[in-house]
Amino acid sequence: MTERLRTDRPVFSVEFMPPRDEADERRLWKAVRELEGLDPAFVSVTYGAGGSSRDRTIRTTGRMATETTLVPMAHLTAVDHTVAELRNVIGWYAAHGIRNVLALRGDPPGDPNGPWVSTPGGLNYADELVALVRELGDFCVGVAAFPYGHPGCTDLDADTDNLMRKFAAGADFAIAQLFFQPEDFLRLRDRVAARGTDKIVVPGIMPLTTPKMLYKTVELSGAPLPPHFAARLEPLAEDAKAFRAEGIDLITETCQRLLAEGVNDLHFYTFNQSKATREVVGRLGLVPTRA
Ligand code: FAD
Repeated sequence: MTERLRTDRPVFSVEFMPPRDEADERRLWKAVRELEGLDPAFVSVTYGAGGSSRDRTIRTTGRMATETTLVPMAHLTAVDHTVAELRNVIGWYAAHGIRNVLALRGDPPGDPNGPWVSTPGGLNYADELVALVRELGDFCVGVAAFPYGHPGCTDLDADTDNLMRKFAAGADFAIAQLFFQPEDFLRLRDRVAARGTDKIVVPGIMPLTTPKMLYKTVELSGAPLPPHFAARLEPLAEDAKAFRAEGIDLITETCQRLLAEGVNDLHFYTFNQSKATREVVGRLGLVPTRA
């Protein structure tokens, strides 16, 4: 799949979540169909904590592989899984034509910032899951990267060591956690390049359409809200339309800067809605990958 990221012009990809109920399922498939015509480089589906959510990831990704022209990538985490269970899920992915897996350790169940607790007979770190996926089939494997370092990591050097361990285990590319300033992502890209690898790191982009999305970005990135984001967005918190317009402007500017720096893929977190992503992609002039 990485050949779809190494084109001579920029592309985009998107992340969906497994639907929680029927209404969510309808919303998700509407978004999938609306984005399908724009031919994203790939579409990923997250992997939750509970059994039913996990089944929905498997079902949704399988349906994308068989009923759409999209290139699906299924997330998989080591949380609460034995190796035997992980082998089963990976086998199911292979049987349903899913060739791309984002291999993650996952957050500790309960308190995501709490200490990691191993599952007896399970795995401890994402590099072990990368190796397992690789061992079981001809998959393209992605991993997570962190512009500000993973919260459990002492410093950026150790964090880069960990990403390199995942590449050494067989990962083909990485997707970066959310960040605010383009420079924050570019410094991560530089750290990886300085280790002598040409593996691709794709920036994760959150369209800032509501205050909730803004504060979700603060939470997920682990970085404080930069003053110029606060100055442009916080005064509009009570005006939904104005906030959305300014948020889309800000994200478009961030993406433009990344593209100007040679970034070739932008990975959008959709929350199962396509409108904001279509708007930003349209403003950036990104054309379908196959065009
Ligand atoms: P790892 O790479 O294993 O790292 C976890 C911690 O362990 C780090 O602090 C690392 O430095 C440390 N570490 C790693 N190896 C070693 C070692 N050998 N010795 C000592 N320390 C080590 N979560 C979900 O539950 N479902 C999802 O679908 C999901 N999708 C995501 C998508 C993206 C793009 C990103 C960026 C994150 C996603 N997450 C998801 C969250 C992710 O699971 C958490 O951030 C998790 O805490 C770390 O996962 P990881 O794969 O980076 O773990």
